[in-house]
Amino acid sequence: MKKVQIGNVVIGGGENIAVQSMTNVKTKDVEKCVDQIKSLEDVGCDIIRVAIPDMESAKAISKIKSKISIPLVADIHFDYRLALECIENGVDKIRLNPGNIGSEDRIKEVAKKADLYNIPIRIGVNGGSLEKDILQKHGGPTSEAMIESAKRHIDILNKFDFDNIVVSLKASDVINTIKVYTLVKEKLDYPLHLGVTEAGTYLSGTVKSSIAIGTLLKNKIGDTIRVSLTDDPVNEVIVAREILKSLNLLKNAPVMVSCPTCARCNINLIELAKKVESYLAGVKKNIKVAVMGCAVNGPGEAREADIGVAGGNGYGLIFKKGEIFKKVKENELFDELKKEIEKM
Ligand code: SF4
Repeated sequence: MKKVQIGNVVIGGGENIAVQSMTNVKTKDVEKCVDQIKSLEDVGCDIIRVAIPDMESAKAISKIKSKISIPLVADIHFDYRLALECIENGVDKIRLNPGNIGSEDRIKEVAKKADLYNIPIRIGVNGGSLEKDILQKHGGPTSEAMIESAKRHIDILNKFDFDNIVVSLKASDVINTIKVYTLVKEKLDYPLHLGVTEAGTYLSGTVKSSIAIGTLLKNKIGDTIRVSLTDDPVNEVIVAREILKSLNLLKNAPVMVSCPTCARCNINLIELAKKVESYLAGVKKNIKVAVMGCAVNGPGEAREADIGVAGGNGYGLIFKKGEIFKKVKENELFDELKKEIEKM
């Protein structure tokens, strides 16, 4: 399969699965945009996309680029001049559908400029906005209809000798997402950007994305992923990374296990587990951390963990590889655990 270079990240052809997200502040507000991107970088975002609704946003690209260290993608609809401006301003990838930007001359101009600057274009087909004739032909936004739309956009770019392409085919439900990507994998040789569009709020979006993206990745389909949530984009990255961790597709990232608690638990374990989870989001170490409710079963149940805590009555035990290492007051558990993880 083809590989595509997006700034300093390569996707496709068996490279690591890259995690993407999208900012939700105004792109033209450079300071806010950079702040948000940095907080996404901190939790492990590999590629960031910004919407370009106007020329001011396109002109902000070079300033944003100079202050961040992950590749920057410009999301453009309809106006080819915004695409040209973003490319000239150093963006690392463009997301646009060539069939939506008008005359062939305009598309040719964008393709030539993207080629000159060696930046890829993602064709992003969305089940909710397919061309009328394709919808009529297929009787609705079926997988076949979405793939035909993608091919149409690809053909337009290929006509101008442009083939540095990534493809996404997003449906808003799990079954169709799995179906369309499974089908397209057999038909196209471009890196695939996976995602469920309009997946919903934190809970439903996480469940839908995990099932769809997880199933596809397990079947070796997909090269970069974006979890779409009606929520803080930081959570999109955290969820995406959890999906990769669950499938052993993420290196240098801690895995956390925690018990569901029961009548044997005498500490506020739920709060502690949330705190540890949020701390671990920024840690780049290949370790397993356990957060367990009781000392009776805790260390034993989490024997394979590198480090962990087990609650007692008003205190907790820090354990390493299933062996008790230190007894600590409940209110000091988090800090002690953090201190030990930092030493690892
Ligand atoms: Fe209950 Fe202890 Fe098991 Fe947690 S580790 S579920 S508190 S027995």
